[in-house]
Amino acid sequence: MAAMSLTLPVLPETSVPPAEGAPQPLPGILDVPTDTLRAWLAERRQPPMRISQIRKQILANRATAFEDMSDLPKDLRPELAGSFSVFSTKVEKHMFAMSDDTHKLVLRLADDKMIECVLIQEDGRATACVSTQVGCGMGCVFCASGLNGVVRNLTVGEIVEQLVRLRNLTNPTSTNPDRAPRLTHIVVMGMGEPLANLDRLLEALAVAGDKHGLCVGQRHVTISTVGLPAKIRQLADVGKQYHLAVSLHAPTDALRTQIVPTNDKTGIPAILEAADYFYEKTGRQVTYEYVVLGGTNDDPTHAKELARLLAGRKAHVNLIPWNDVEGLPYRRPVEGNLQGMIETLHRSGISVKVRKRKGAEIDAACGQLRRQLEGSGERGEGRAKIGEPIT
Ligand code: SF4
Repeated sequence: MAAMSLTLPVLPETSVPPAEGAPQPLPGILDVPTDTLRAWLAERRQPPMRISQIRKQILANRATAFEDMSDLPKDLRPELAGSFSVFSTKVEKHMFAMSDDTHKLVLRLADDKMIECVLIQEDGRATACVSTQVGCGMGCVFCASGLNGVVRNLTVGEIVEQLVRLRNLTNPTSTNPDRAPRLTHIVVMGMGEPLANLDRLLEALAVAGDKHGLCVGQRHVTISTVGLPAKIRQLADVGKQYHLAVSLHAPTDALRTQIVPTNDKTGIPAILEAADYFYEKTGRQVTYEYVVLGGTNDDPTHAKELARLLAGRKAHVNLIPWNDVEGLPYRRPVEGNLQGMIETLHRSGISVKVRKRKGAEIDAACGQLRRQLEGSGERGEGRAKIGEPIT
C-alpha cells in the first residue's frame, strides 16, 4: 500500500476533561499531535511513516479499528489500540430517512457532551453538514442549538471525525448516479458558530482537502456564519476558495437583533462590508441565508428592504422556510409571502433559491435531537452565556 503523504497538517494538542466519575478515555488518534505520535512510535522502534499510514487508513481507507490496518506490523496494532482510540467520539444515535437517504448522527464526545452531524445525498452529491462547537453562543431565537449557550469549541479531531463518520456512510461501490461513492461537499452549518472556532476549523478543512485523505476540494466547502466581521476578513485573508454563507435573516438591524441577538454588537453594515471584502479577496460570491419565519420577517416590506440592502452586490439569497420546532413560537411562512419574496428579489436582479428541507422525518433541524437526548439534566451545565465569547 502506498504511504500517505507526510504533508498532512499537524493536529493540535487538546485537553478535553472526562466527565466526572467516568473512566479516562483513550485519546482519539486524530487529535494526537504529530510530535507526540512520532515519539510514541520511536519508543517502539517504529518509523515516523507509520503516522501517515494510520491517518490514511482512517481518512482514505475507512478503517475503524487498528486491527484492520493491514499495512501496519501485526504487533503494533494492539499496542496502538491500548494507547489510542481510532475515534474519540461514539455514535449515540444514528437516524436514517429512507425517503431521501439523509443520515443524522448524534455523537457523544469524550467529555460526554453531544453534537450532531448530517449526511445529505442527492444529485450525485454527498454533503456532510458538521458542527464546530458544543452548543452555540449566538442565541438565534429559532435555533435549538443555541438555546442554552455554548459549552466549548470542538477540537480539530472532533470536526474531522464527523466528516469521516459521515463519509463512511456513503457506499464506496455505488454506481447510482444520484449517490456519490464518497464525500463530495462539506457545509459547516451544524451546531455552533464556525468562525468562533476558525483556527481549528481551518485545520480540519485542510485535512478534509488532502488528496490522500477525504479529498474534498475547497470550492466544495461552505462555511456559514451569523456574521463576525473580523473573522470574515481573517477567512478572506487565508487565501482559500471556501464559499461563505452569511445568515442574515432580516433586512434591518432592529429586526435582525430580535432574531440574532449578537447583531447588536456588529450591525448589518459591518457584516456586509466584511462580506464585500471577502468577495473582493476571493472572487467568490457570498450567499445570504434567510430563515423565513411566518409573520416575522416575510412580509412584502421585508422583501423590498432585503432587495435594497443587497442591490449592486454579487449576492445569492437562500430562503429557508421555517420548520416547526417543538417549544418555539415561530411558524412556517404562508406560500404567498414566500413567493412574493422570491419575485421581489428576482425583480431586483438578485439570484434566489428556496432551500429544500432534507431529512424532515428524522428531525434534522439543527440541535433538536441532541437536546432531546441530553434531557433536562444536563442543560445549561457549565455553559457560557449567550453572546459570551469562548476559546
Ligand atoms: S443558527 Fe447557527 S449561529 Fe444561530 S444559534 Fe443556531 S447554531 Fe448558533
